[in-house]
Amino acid sequence: MSCPICQGPVAPLSDRRFAVCPAEGVVINLAYEFRRYEHDYFEKEYKNQYGKSYTADRQSILERNHKRFQHIAHLVSHRSHPQVLEIGSAAGYFLKIMQDHGFSVHGWEISAAMAKYANARGLKTTQQDFLKGARQHQARKRKPFDIVAMFYVLEHLPEQAEVWQHLSALVKAGGYLLLALPSAAGPMFRFHRSEWYASHPTDHKIDYSPDSLSTTAKRFGFVSVATFSEGIHPHRFPLGRFAPMARLYRKVLEAAPLADTIYAVLRREG
Ligand SMILES: [Zn+2]
Repeated sequence: MSCPICQGPVAPLSDRRFAVCPAEGVVINLAYEFRRYEHDYFEKEYKNQYGKSYTADRQSILERNHKRFQHIAHLVSHRSHPQVLEIGSAAGYFLKIMQDHGFSVHGWEISAAMAKYANARGLKTTQQDFLKGARQHQARKRKPFDIVAMFYVLEHLPEQAEVWQHLSALVKAGGYLLLALPSAAGPMFRFHRSEWYASHPTDHKIDYSPDSLSTTAKRFGFVSVATFSEGIHPHRFPLGRFAPMARLYRKVLEAAPLADTIYAVLRREG
């Protein structure tokens, strides 16, 4: 098996279903299994993974998306960066925030039910998967976007090099790529490795960390502007169940991207 980014050789981890690429530092799932994401993916899978249905969890999803917007609000405006694309836009919660701030938004969403829901709420969404959308965008010589957002999608795609090439082409020079994704620099990978191995989703091809993401992004014309913790779970750290330690970890997580999930802001260089 070779690295899906650089095609170079990889070094196996203690659980041999996983390996690390020494070039970027990414963790690769050698036992990756492709799966189709059908219309009921959100309701069923989300409930399995998070104990609530996607739509019932609306409040926390809204808050997370507001945070994502706040982290870029000093960098972009609807005048400087008007055109926004979200890949995997789901019910359109992030696009709604951007649209309310005057941005012109477009979503690509694989689930027909989600695309229909978003369109009914006035959020222009096309039902298609990423590679199909990106190839078409290129073939039709359409203009790149000022902002491209992709939350919890990148780790699912086995064609990493092609995906990054498309992302380069989709973001205008001086524009931004916003990613949310699992991180191998978080406490699960660091301190609970066997649990991390056991619970790793088979349909996640790759795990980045803030460092390996920035190394990879650089190869494809992006610079890392900032990376933040997404999920704040102090109890996953050593002694994190003790209140004073939990408070300390919370502060650390709010200041540095050390969580199991991260949000990265990358700028496309000219
Ligand atoms: Zn590599």
